[in-house]
Amino acid sequence: MVGIEYKVIVGLEIHVQLCTKSKMFCGCALEFGAEPNSRVCPVCLGMPGVLPVMNKKAYEYAVLTALALDCRIAMFTKWDRKSYYYPDLPKNYQISQYDLPLGADGFVEIPLESGGTKKIGIIRAHLEEDAGKNVHTAGNYSQVDLNRTGTPLLEIVTEPDMNSGAEVRALAVELQRMVRFLGVSEADMQKGHMRFEPNINLAITKDGVEYRTSIVEIKNLNSFRALERSVSYEEQRQIDEFIETGKVMKMGSKTTRGWDDDREVTVLQREKEEAHDYRYFPEPDLVPVELTKVWLDDIRSRLCELPLKRQVRYVREFQLSDYDAGVLTADRSISDFFEEAVKTGADPKRICNLLTQTGLKIAKEKSCGINDLGVKPERVARLAEMIETGQISASSSVPVFEAMVQTGKEPDVLARELNLIQKSDAGELEHIVDKVLAENPQAVEDVTSGGKKNKRARGFLLGQVMQETKGQANPKVASEILAKKLG
Ligand SMILES: [Zn+2]
Repeated sequence: MVGIEYKVIVGLEIHVQLCTKSKMFCGCALEFGAEPNSRVCPVCLGMPGVLPVMNKKAYEYAVLTALALDCRIAMFTKWDRKSYYYPDLPKNYQISQYDLPLGADGFVEIPLESGGTKKIGIIRAHLEEDAGKNVHTAGNYSQVDLNRTGTPLLEIVTEPDMNSGAEVRALAVELQRMVRFLGVSEADMQKGHMRFEPNINLAITKDGVEYRTSIVEIKNLNSFRALERSVSYEEQRQIDEFIETGKVMKMGSKTTRGWDDDREVTVLQREKEEAHDYRYFPEPDLVPVELTKVWLDDIRSRLCELPLKRQVRYVREFQLSDYDAGVLTADRSISDFFEEAVKTGADPKRICNLLTQTGLKIAKEKSCGINDLGVKPERVARLAEMIETGQISASSSVPVFEAMVQTGKEPDVLARELNLIQKSDAGELEHIVDKVLAENPQAVEDVTSGGKKNKRARGFLLGQVMQETKGQANPKVASEILAKKLG
């Protein structure tokens, strides 16, 4: 439309479930899929007179993530009660951190589709406990499962620095691999380990005047696809609404919409309550948390090189494609495996191909991790070397890799056992080439006469050599000998 320009502005709230063994303030086990209401105790059920105790590991995981997000870490924090009433919240309040979040003022870098990266500001990161789950599958009544009640949740709030559905998705994906790298969350979307709430509005310029549309928050998204699509949908819906009605932001107003995954639309839910409606006040049953320098240093020592940094380094240092580097850094165990293999001095590109094209495929079929295949990084490196030196062909590496998984034997042994060692011995191959030339005078004639048929005849002769050796001739060596003999 003439005269109108706009850009979408998105900030994101992310809830990440931390992978501690027990809950945030009691000893109940965190177990997905356990029988409903079997992982509960008086503390997480909110019985009167019980006392919560903080899970130290959860706190450390949260601080570690905040460090990775380059946040300022609070040396003193406290807990607050956020009061609200909901059937899956037996205490009628949630323990959270209100005015003293454990981390603030950080940033995260995300890769852009156009190449390069973009910094997204992090406003805060704080710890809280999750509520239970209402289950609506029983028919005409609902059920409550309190197993999830008290699960440690890290809430991360970004600045409104994103300007498209794709950027929001990129941030979510980046956070997922970051928390996985740090080992603080499995970040399994299917199990609800990561949930997203984007805040979306538009900055519009119409005939030289600037407008803002009202902020819409979309609740409880639990897939990257829903996240990206809902943001794109909302962008379009808001510009359509503005053009039709001219409606702009009312100060302080914020509406909540839900995402209908089947129809792929957002649906109005309610006007958002203001923060003071939650009646936050300091939690009297828990002591404040004081982080000492020693403790913080200890947590800091567990930081690792973050996935995006590694991805960029793989491209620069090993000349891998951005795509390959992304596959290798999607998961810490794969990335570490790759690094171990590269240390042997074998070609990184070949190791990468073996891992991404064969290793990960086998792991996926077995639904296990790369380290569960029983194949050491040095052996994959050795396999890469065997391809490099022409002992086996690249395609033969697949059955050798599979056999390594099955038998645990060395690649050299398996290549021999499977009869996959290529014939690279020039003397032996020369013999075979001579035989093939003698048996195919017409093809030799076609080559030496140098006509149109030259190229095809050469291909045919090489094919005969391969057939004669049951595919075991090193094609490079065989072509060299052919070329020498045919001139
Ligand atoms: Zn409990």
